[in-house]
Amino acid sequence: GKILVTGANGYVSVWIVKTFLEHGFAVRGAVRSERKATYLGSLFQSYGDKFDVVVVEDITKDGAFDEAVKDVDGIVHTASPVGIIQGDAAELILPAVQGTVSILTSALKRGTSVQRIVWVGSAGSVFEEQPDSNLKAFTEADWNEPAIREVETKGATASGFAKYSASKTLAERAAWNFWNKYRAEVAWDLVVLNPTYVFGPILHDVDRPENLNASMRIFYDAAVADARDKETLATWGSSWVDVRDVGLAHVLAMQTPGAGGERIIISNDVYKLQDFVDIAHRLYPQLPAGSIDYDPTVATHYQVFDTSKQRKLFKINFCPMETMVKDTLEDFKARGWI
Ligand code: NDP
Repeated sequence: GKILVTGANGYVSVWIVKTFLEHGFAVRGAVRSERKATYLGSLFQSYGDKFDVVVVEDITKDGAFDEAVKDVDGIVHTASPVGIIQGDAAELILPAVQGTVSILTSALKRGTSVQRIVWVGSAGSVFEEQPDSNLKAFTEADWNEPAIREVETKGATASGFAKYSASKTLAERAAWNFWNKYRAEVAWDLVVLNPTYVFGPILHDVDRPENLNASMRIFYDAAVADARDKETLATWGSSWVDVRDVGLAHVLAMQTPGAGGERIIISNDVYKLQDFVDIAHRLYPQLPAGSIDYDPTVATHYQVFDTSKQRKLFKINFCPMETMVKDTLEDFKARGWI
């Protein structure tokens, strides 16, 4: 089969593309410019005509993907702005929502061969801030409504994370609404994957650490750049998953019949930044030691997920933290960043 992957040049996406190719699929990557197409072309050169790239300059335009969706069996939509912005949340929300409606509309009108669409969500659309007491594990039934409310009430002064989470939550809702409206007319079904923080080695085009994608910048700042204070290292964290497991989850989401119509949290385990720092410092003593009196056994985790659905459907043998940190630092070292 052939899979269209949008935002194909991003951190997570390049691994998604690679994993589909390794599983024998053909892949068409959609990117915003020729320059990005050239990088991917050389990265996946060994796959010959099993990999091709289309340039879609503006994903929000009507009919943007009309050509790209032709003759593909599946679509993975990852293109969405990621990051902490100072200004109006619309900067994130508009491309996230309109890009989603745009690809689904092209699939509805022109995607006659499409069987399934895997939409890349985020755990940020699932969890919300929670108080110290009555901690709970979030499930696929949870939606980050408070992020939307925060953006509605505070506008540009809402937190950066609320703006990003609101964009992902509103876009995911748009995807489900669209599918529920047209499901009787289309041959495809919808799967949404909601990964937690993604870490691990990088394959995409990054010239220097400052230009890393948002999640890997967090890793780099903590483990290599010594840019976080000890208190933050010991107390800031969430849940995480290795980028290679996320790649595999997308292939399984495309192939597993029972995944159709499901929203699925993809996560390995909880972390505090100091957990990464501990491993990094042990492997590379020249890297920062961070908070040396940190005790992982007494850390409190607020962003904890019930992962029974992913386990039942996908049975991924998750990459352990030690391996993720080791492989990531080897990658950084090869780039001269350590
Ligand atoms: P990257 O920033 O590396 O990739 C983002 C991709 O989206 C790039 O291809 C980028 O293209 C594209 N994109 C961004 N804004 C626009 C826009 N306005 N129009 C068209 N394309 C756009 O981030 P990640 O790889 O981390 O994120 C990929 C997906 O995974 C996102 O949907 C994100 O929400 C999701 N995700 C990521 C997690 C993580 O921890 N990394 C966790 C959970 C979900 P360009 O290079 O041209 O800007």
